[in-house]
Amino acid sequence: MKKIYLETFGCQMNVLDSELVEGRLRSLGYDFVTDAQQANVVLYNTCSVREKSEQKVLSRLGRMKIRKQSEPDLVIGVIGCMAERDGIGMLRRLPQVDLLCGPGELDKLPGLLENVLATHRQQAALAGDTARRSGTLASAGEDRLELLDLSRSFSPGKNKYQAYIRVVRGCNKFCTYCVVPYTRGPEVSRSPQAIVDEARRLVDAGAREITLLGQTVNHYIYDDVSASGPSGPMSRRTTFAQLLRRVHDELPQLPRLRFITSFPADFGDDILQAMTDCPRICRYLHIPAQCGSNRILKLMNRGYTVESYLELLQRARSFMPDVAVVGDFIVGFPTETDADYQATRELAARARYKNAFIFKYSPRPGTVAIRRHEDDVPEEVKQFRHQDLLNLQNEICHQLNGELVGSTVDVLCEGPSGWNQPAESVIAGAAGGHGPSAHGLGPRVELGQRLLGALRSRTDGISEAPPESSGHIQLTGRTTADQIVVFDGPANLEGLIVPVKVCVVHGLTIFARIANSATISPTHELAAAI
Ligand code: SAM
Ligand code: SF4
Repeated sequence: MKKIYLETFGCQMNVLDSELVEGRLRSLGYDFVTDAQQANVVLYNTCSVREKSEQKVLSRLGRMKIRKQSEPDLVIGVIGCMAERDGIGMLRRLPQVDLLCGPGELDKLPGLLENVLATHRQQAALAGDTARRSGTLASAGEDRLELLDLSRSFSPGKNKYQAYIRVVRGCNKFCTYCVVPYTRGPEVSRSPQAIVDEARRLVDAGAREITLLGQTVNHYIYDDVSASGPSGPMSRRTTFAQLLRRVHDELPQLPRLRFITSFPADFGDDILQAMTDCPRICRYLHIPAQCGSNRILKLMNRGYTVESYLELLQRARSFMPDVAVVGDFIVGFPTETDADYQATRELAARARYKNAFIFKYSPRPGTVAIRRHEDDVPEEVKQFRHQDLLNLQNEICHQLNGELVGSTVDVLCEGPSGWNQPAESVIAGAAGGHGPSAHGLGPRVELGQRLLGALRSRTDGISEAPPESSGHIQLTGRTTADQIVVFDGPANLEGLIVPVKVCVVHGLTIFARIANSATISPTHELAAAI
């Protein structure tokens, strides 16, 4: 039996694509292994958004070239955005690569693989620019891709409780720095019925949190042209707000529904109203601003201003004062001056993001920005701005997380944390010498011990006693705002929503204790578990 090693780079879209590909190939009898050395087929699901992600893949391919000299039957495949962006020329430049498959052609991957195995000749399936040239081809492609989503395997995956569903494919925004519209093709919304059906099957398979995915997810719009009214055919339109309500209402057993990524222009109140009305939709918005300078936003072709962006945040917070907002920034876009950067800093300070992803501009072949502008911000300036903005964001994160100390938050328990000691035992050890000593515990436990002083001071005034530790292990989970929480408890809390009281925060990690039983409602899942 052929053994496949599949490594995924990049965003959640790629994670979902890999899951779909793995499900499809497993159903055809292929086995998957976690060690590349054990595999006779090595696939890289690649990302082209920044040069760095492509370099990682090139370095993997370099290693595989050496391995292939002693294992000529080893099959190496590059799938996803890098295959599409680089194109067929990659097969000439990197002869160790046996197959290329773009993200819009993944339904063809099993056929390509079979051909390589049978013929030992290079194979490729790439959209080229056909999807953008022809509406018919684009929709034919959509039908094929829809089949891949629909043929999804619903056996519990690596993360049993968290699942993604694609609701919008591709992107039409053409931000000048970005490769996505070229690699993933035009924006197409999937049918709401297909999405609800997929969500139901995921919930039946154990998913407790579903994330709806799209590059501009809030621009989801679906016209059902097959609908008919009293006077013949009519179009029934579903907006994103309606889709959210439908998934929420039709799946009352799903504890958490979230969506990423939102585009700041044309973000309607109807979505904010749906989030406010539906208690199981996480109050979480990932809305990248990218930059705080209107001049640069225009060069980026983002289609909004700093003022309209801040107005959106204010609107969101007036609907939901507790909404967690997450952003993305690119520093060092061509022509960015110190004043432009200061404006970005100011925006970050005003936005008060729960978290922000900060990137240095990376010129990408094929984009408008690389054609129009020289990459003129020196690397050391990019580096300085990147670090400076990270420092500012870390400070904000720490403040916001610090404000949570003493409050009770709901956590979706994902299972044992990577630490090798329960948190309370580490605390007790450092406090009274009963537990393990710091020596030899490994960096993560030592970090826990260093946190102890802070923990003691921050827990002053919190009524919670340390929980009974017998049978408890250290668990990890996430809040509705996607913050990581570490706490001790019985292993059978895995997969449940657990209320915890926040004791201390360190960076982006929150340390907590299971909330007092008095604060747990009788209907709460925890009551049934312990
Ligand atoms: N669709 C989302 C949006 O518009 O906000 C983001 C999708 S993109 C794959 C993820 C992030 O990568 C972007 O928000 C942007 O910050 C970053 N990014 C995209 N192209 C980049 C480039 N050429 N250089 C650096 N960062 C880039
Ligand atoms: Fe790229 Fe802009 Fe589309 Fe986001 S909206 S995927 S940044 S082109």
